[in-house]
Amino acid sequence: MKPPKFSYLRPNNLSEALEMLAEYGDEAKIMSGGQSLIPLLNMRLSTPAYIIDIGRVEELKGIRDEEDSIVIGGMTRHADVEKSPLVREKCPLLSEGIRWVGHNQIRTRGTIGGSIAHADPSAELPCMLTALRGEIVIVSNEEEIILSPEEFFLSYLLTSLEPNQLVKEIRFPKIKKGSGYAFEEVARRHGDFALVEVAAVIELNTDGTIAEAKIALGGANSVPFIPEGTEGFLIGKLPDDSILKEAAVLQIDELDPEGDIHGSKEYRRYLSGVLLERALYKAVERAREGVIA
Ligand SMILES: Cc1cc2nc3c(=O)[nH]c(=O)nc-3n(C[C@H](O)[C@H](O)[C@H](O)COP(=O)(O)OP(=O)(O)OC[C@H]3O[C@@H](n4cnc5c(N)ncnc54)[C@H](O)[C@@H]3O)c2cc1C
Repeated sequence: MKPPKFSYLRPNNLSEALEMLAEYGDEAKIMSGGQSLIPLLNMRLSTPAYIIDIGRVEELKGIRDEEDSIVIGGMTRHADVEKSPLVREKCPLLSEGIRWVGHNQIRTRGTIGGSIAHADPSAELPCMLTALRGEIVIVSNEEEIILSPEEFFLSYLLTSLEPNQLVKEIRFPKIKKGSGYAFEEVARRHGDFALVEVAAVIELNTDGTIAEAKIALGGANSVPFIPEGTEGFLIGKLPDDSILKEAAVLQIDELDPEGDIHGSKEYRRYLSGVLLERALYKAVERAREGVIA
């Protein structure tokens, strides 16, 4: 199918983009990489009167090192994040997980802001951002605000973005010294969205016990899920195999994944436990090996 008729707007900078959003926001859709939007238009699941293409907005592009975070502009392509030496050094979880986003062709077009704004519960970026306890910087022509993933992701493909707002940049906290990380996913085919995915960061004390556990599961609920009980259970424990096994299944009854032709609800719940155990194991191993110097 072909998309419905729309007017195409192409701002040259951020203030132009925000002015257009203020004027046409209710009837407009922002286009970044178009990798999710174009299929939605072609299937006529979205019928905006205006498309605001922010591809030329340089202020929304780039990756920078800022105190405790790596800050990535909304219009930055997945492929640029994947290849970034800065990201690999300071936030390697992101380098590991981003390779699971579609295929190379999709990652050269798709953007970080687009993935976050699209809010697919099986997408890798929202899951990693939630595990890292990152922040989303949102801007309109009136104000700039910073939201946590829990404030931003409301439900399946639904966020708290208002019609006059766009995702300006995303703050991914760096992985601290003494920590290990892991991203685990199962998808039916290479490049498909996850059936379930897990991102984990584990920090160890010098005596080998767990100082901090930060975990998120994607594809297991309508928004990325933080298993707070599991995180609390792990703190202060010596992470041997039996503890990690016990932790991995502690909260699987609380997960509410959608069942579909790719995998039943029960299978996805089971898979969540398996992937969480693998992720915890790998994150602990990496923390012990001192992968973050
Ligand atoms: C075959 C295929 C496989 C894929 N597999 C995966 C996968 O495994 N994992 C995965 O995560 N994704 C996957 N994707 C989607 C891909 O990652 C998209 O790039 C991503 O979801 C959206 O990024 P985009 O820049 O293309 O956004 P667009 O398609 O341009 O926009 C998506 C939505 O976000 C809004 N939007 C975009 N940018 C902003 C902004 N800065 N502020 C506010 N709203 C904004 C748009 O209005 C639209 O509603 C796949 C896509 C395809 C075609």
